[in-house]
Amino acid sequence: MRVFDYVIVGAGFAGSVMAERLASDGGKSVLLVDRRNHVGGNAYDYYDDAGVLVHKYGPHVFHTNSERVFRYLSRFTTWRPYVHRVLAHVDGRLLPFPINLDTVNALYGTALNESELEAYFASVAEPVSAIRNSEQAIVSRVGRDLYEKFFRHYTKKQWGCEAAELDASVIARIPVRTDRDDRYFTDRYQVMPSNGYTAMFTRMLSHSNIVTVLNADFRDVRRAVRYDNVIYTGAIDEYFDQRYGQLPYRSLKFVHRTLPQPVFQPVAVVNYPQDRDYTRVTEYKHLTGQHHAMTSITYEYPQDAREPYYPVPRAENAQLYKRYRELAAMTANVHFVGRLATYQYYNMDQVVAQALCTYAKISEAHDEAKAV
Ligand code: FAD
Ligand code: UDP
Repeated sequence: MRVFDYVIVGAGFAGSVMAERLASDGGKSVLLVDRRNHVGGNAYDYYDDAGVLVHKYGPHVFHTNSERVFRYLSRFTTWRPYVHRVLAHVDGRLLPFPINLDTVNALYGTALNESELEAYFASVAEPVSAIRNSEQAIVSRVGRDLYEKFFRHYTKKQWGCEAAELDASVIARIPVRTDRDDRYFTDRYQVMPSNGYTAMFTRMLSHSNIVTVLNADFRDVRRAVRYDNVIYTGAIDEYFDQRYGQLPYRSLKFVHRTLPQPVFQPVAVVNYPQDRDYTRVTEYKHLTGQHHAMTSITYEYPQDAREPYYPVPRAENAQLYKRYRELAAMTANVHFVGRLATYQYYNMDQVVAQALCTYAKISEAHDEAKAV
């Protein structure tokens, strides 16, 4: 039976960063397993049959304010500058989203300036004593009409519930602006890996101390090898066989299409907050800068968890997660890292930061053990 210092479950950002650090900095032997047939987790990209680089699990746009995260990933890729801009299909028109001065003026046929827009928002905002949910977060800022047009139905599609049933943090991801800034993100670093995410992961994992096994479930692998420690990046409730009940996750169905035309839509992502069963359409060539006579797009249809993609931020779910977290804390030699394992609505950079932090703690503990 082969012996490893670490078995790492999941080859997404969390598992791959942990594998790379443990192997190349820690000198540990690592078995990295994923039940999918590829590395990269949800950030996996590939060339489709037409030769267009697409993201299997929907648009992944890299953005971070963390110089540490950016510098770390830069060891494995060069970058293409890319500033993400999104349009929302509202009342039959494509309008800048997040809502800004141009959105409001185009929607209502007004010619407000910034301070007039601020005064308009103040006049329609619904006062709430404390913002407790995602509906309140928006109506208390921009009033009900903009909430209905841009947020209510999108959120209902995306999460299968009303915004009032979700933590304020969900919609608070989206800023509201009174200037003309139409960027989706304002982070210091906004870039895409020049050759795609999968190429970046492949470099990360190309260390001789790392053995990667795909199409393999941890449940099967754990019986076939010997190991001292586990890094687990799958769903935490699954690790414990749903002992306290299932943690809710939201899932998506991705419908990929290739079209015999060079361009489909003016920007990488168009959101559909009023109609359609899908939430958004992504056209990858805007993200990747690829030149090609054809173009590939993806429709996202939200559904209840088959494959878990999103933890559902709501107080009762946080309570249930807390019970699993307590169980995890008592489980010796197993570290839980990543979006599903810590039940957090994390972006890629936050997962990288979490993994780097976990590695720093592990490494410190090793050093202390050696010193004793
Ligand atoms: P994952 O990528 O989910 O990796 C976990 C891996 O573990 C999976 O590959 C899974 O197969 C494997 N696994 C689980 N259980 C087992 C088991 N028992 N045995 C073997 N393998 C197992 N973030 C951004 O920063 N920008 C974006 O634009 C962005 N867009 C997104 C769009 C969508 C549609 C989604 C769903 C997410 C998006 N994200 C984005 C978030 C980003 O995908 C995550 O932050 C990141 O991929 C999480 O990495 P992870 O390693 O924690 O989890
Ligand atoms: N949202 C919305 N309308 C939109 C875009 C987003 O109501 O046009 C809400 C929705 O609840 C969504 C949340 O804002 O889940 C966060 O949006 P984001 O684009 O960050 O979602 P993600 O890319 O993680 O799916």
